[in-house]
Amino acid sequence: MKTISVLGATGSIGDSTLDVVARHPDRYRVHALSAHRNVDKLLTLAVRHRPEVLAVSDAQAAAGFEARLRAAGVTARLAVGPDELVEVAGTPGIDAVMAAIVGAAGLAPTLAAARGARSVLLANKESIVMAGALFGAACRQSGVTLLPVDSEHNAIFQCLPDRATGVDSRRAVRRLILTASGGPFRTWTPERIAAATPEQACKHPKWSMGRKISVDSATLMNKGLELIEAQFLFDMPSEQLDVIIHPQSIIHSMVEYVDGSVLAQLGNPDMRVPIAHALAYPERFDSGVSSLDLVAAGTLQFEEPDETRFPCLRLAREAMRAGGGAPCVLNAANEVSVQNFLDGRVGFADIARINEAVLTALGNPAAPDSLADTLALDATARLLAEQQIAA
Ligand code: NAD
Ligand code: MG
Repeated sequence: MKTISVLGATGSIGDSTLDVVARHPDRYRVHALSAHRNVDKLLTLAVRHRPEVLAVSDAQAAAGFEARLRAAGVTARLAVGPDELVEVAGTPGIDAVMAAIVGAAGLAPTLAAARGARSVLLANKESIVMAGALFGAACRQSGVTLLPVDSEHNAIFQCLPDRATGVDSRRAVRRLILTASGGPFRTWTPERIAAATPEQACKHPKWSMGRKISVDSATLMNKGLELIEAQFLFDMPSEQLDVIIHPQSIIHSMVEYVDGSVLAQLGNPDMRVPIAHALAYPERFDSGVSSLDLVAAGTLQFEEPDETRFPCLRLAREAMRAGGGAPCVLNAANEVSVQNFLDGRVGFADIARINEAVLTALGNPAAPDSLADTLALDATARLLAEQQIAA
């Protein structure tokens, strides 16, 4: 019996994770569940999964919650605030921590999990974009098993040689090819894209996800963040990372080897597939996802990504090549611009404009080499983004 903690349990990845976990009560026992402020949903999850610990973000969310838990017969300890969340995430010896908090808020707890847990199931791509080198060092030091949950990276992980073979994948691989659905605006004109509303941006054709990543998929920033994520996860130089648009989202990514072989991982677009892979690794178990019907899918299409209509992908490539603190700056600017777009304060095209202005203003900052440095650079970039919006 393994223990699992789910950070960001009330979100979309949290839902899919707990769905898979509940199919395997003989394999997994839930240790901790975290939420930001959605205590109603956390209460429902606590009744269903009986964790030992629950975490919420602040005293306001916690007020009255303990009494509601006890009234519902839940005995779990309640942790409150970011510091206690980090403690919960870093509890030594937990078998698996699902890192599924969205954005920079996930960095400190994900890093703590990399130091304390036996394995980290990584969904929170922003944390590795912000602090890839720091994260890598923490993983090497603790010996944690890092399992990618992002569907593209999970696909690549499945297509790479098993680490146990000792094959040097950097020498064997020519390219990693990340597939992208193209998002809801793939076929739209620049004028229509510029006028897009939050509702349109969040209506993804293939995946049902949280609002922030949905907007990132619409701008293609998500694919850009994923390029940087792949660079760190697979220790690959930027020239060997490619993106291809594949609207059906059936091929989740590919690995091209130096001999010309291309391996792909296929499946229905449902996050329970990569989540079940990471939960069962190195074994396999049921994810609840139905068989892939290739005849029903019919045609698989591929296109070149268009960085003119989707400049965020270009910005992410530039930040990836620049390295150092640039990915952290881009991520911070993007979190601010996307939130302001969702709140109706800026337009869709402003997201890329603000992100570019912040990247340009900060030049090429050095890679932050501690959590405090990373958060300081993140804060500086956020401030600049807010100033862009106010101007
Ligand atoms: P979501 O918005 O549905 O859920 C986010 C979770 O984080 C919630 O549980 C929320 O309570 C928690 N949270 C938000 N702000 C917080 C804060 N300040 N402190 C503590 N907790 C906080 O998002 P999601 O779609 O589940 O995505 C989660 C992460 O997984 C993101 O990094 C995303 O990029 C990544 N991811 C998601 C998908 C997907 O299909 N949804 C696929 C690949 C990767
Ligand atoms: Mg992805």
